[in-house]
Amino acid sequence: MDDFNVKAQAFTDLVLSSSNVVVLTGAGVSTESGIPDYRSPGTGLWEKIDQSIVSIDGFTREPSLYYDYSLELYPVRKNAKPNSAHYMLAELEKKGLLSGIITQNVDGLHQDAGSEVVHELHGSLRQAVCLNCSALQSMNEAMERVISGQNPPLCFECGGVLKPNAVFFGEPLPRIPWEQSLELSRSADLFIAIGSSLQVSPANSLPDIAIKAGAKLIVINFTPTPFDLDAQILINHQIGEFSSAVIKLLDSQNI
Ligand code: ZN
Repeated sequence: MDDFNVKAQAFTDLVLSSSNVVVLTGAGVSTESGIPDYRSPGTGLWEKIDQSIVSIDGFTREPSLYYDYSLELYPVRKNAKPNSAHYMLAELEKKGLLSGIITQNVDGLHQDAGSEVVHELHGSLRQAVCLNCSALQSMNEAMERVISGQNPPLCFECGGVLKPNAVFFGEPLPRIPWEQSLELSRSADLFIAIGSSLQVSPANSLPDIAIKAGAKLIVINFTPTPFDLDAQILINHQIGEFSSAVIKLLDSQNI
């Protein structure tokens, strides 16, 4: 067996021999669904846009700038489909092999793939929240109104400005998903970080918390992370291809 298949088998074995598997996912899980990464050199979103547009101060000052920018990416987000990494994780949960997913992503693709326990650390771009009355509304519906010329889109309840319910620069993380993620990480005996550079605080403290509580660590990422030396298994492969290999292994072993 080559290195790739040896690692897929080792990954599967470690998941099967663990009793509390927790996964943290980052942008790398969704790039194969066509959603651009934020930090990759050359293609990263932050290299292309003015960060103040996605800061809470900038948004509050001039929300229409954000919506002008997001129009370009809206069709990509609306039509994005889960890839084999999302499906592999949903499969593990259905088989009772996964306690939950903590994600830094805001795209909702884990839920589309069928995952049920998903803690969204940075909120969700599927929802819009009213800055005045906190009512939650559909982001797709709000974007359709932007396309027809209502920029910024306004709340149906009170006429306040709608903001995507994802965390912008300068905003705190939503408290409940963070607390649930801490609890999951403390109780994990296997922590798997997939597609995350593990450089964004405080999400990057979660693998540390899990390791200190006795968990083993698997890192799957195309580029190096600060946790590579701590990993029991380190996989620098394309995440989608690796996930497909794991799905095949589970199927072939009737797991
Ligand atoms: Zn409102």
